[in-house]
Amino acid sequence: MSGTEASREHLSQQIIDSCLAMNAQGINQGSAGNISARYRHGFLITPSGMAYDCLKPEHIVFVDLQGNCDDALNPSSEWRMHCDIYVNRAEAGAVLHAHPTFATALSCLRQDIPAFHYMVAVAGGNSIRCADYALFGTQALSDYMLEALHERRACLLGTHGMICFHDHIDKALWLGVEVETLAKQYWYARQAGDPVILSKAQMDEVQQQFKGYGKQPTKDSENNEC
Ligand code: 13P
Ligand code: ZN
Repeated sequence: MSGTEASREHLSQQIIDSCLAMNAQGINQGSAGNISARYRHGFLITPSGMAYDCLKPEHIVFVDLQGNCDDALNPSSEWRMHCDIYVNRAEAGAVLHAHPTFATALSCLRQDIPAFHYMVAVAGGNSIRCADYALFGTQALSDYMLEALHERRACLLGTHGMICFHDHIDKALWLGVEVETLAKQYWYARQAGDPVILSKAQMDEVQQQFKGYGKQPTKDSENNEC
């Protein structure tokens, strides 16, 4: 096996492991959702409609940045959203789309998640926007998503779910879990009253504070790896 094939296989296995983890962690169910990772002049992505626990690395599909795919299986029906993120956001190394319960419930109400908690800043700004609704698998959905992702790395998708990206697949999974946690906290806080929204100045301060957060002096703990 050549080195290139090995790295495709390795990345494909990471995609499968992340799909299984996102279902195990309760941010997705069944074959809903999809995950991809940037690879060469395109990206590797889950095939459409296949149960994650049956997936093998050879089932993961390659799509180039023009949307061409020569593999035997059809890529996720949402390959356009993944492709548009890789084309428009150079910093994206992996994309995760899921239908988590609380994020999806808010998306059905077409509500943004405002700065009710400082952790909203992990998505890149003062809110996590909700994109307008469009039919799944369409370019219109991807266009609305790109608008909602302006200066953000996560958004809700109207009456559908959530999408996020990061530089690495592990971080995309982490961010997906964070967004769903925030959606759940926001949902609960609103059951009891009107959450206080942090100001722009307070959120700017959070972004500054994050720059030094989690940095430990020893090399081993630099990336929070266990
Ligand atoms: P795929 O199975 O085609 O990836 O679709 C799942 C989904 O979430 C569609 O929005
Ligand atoms: Zn979906």
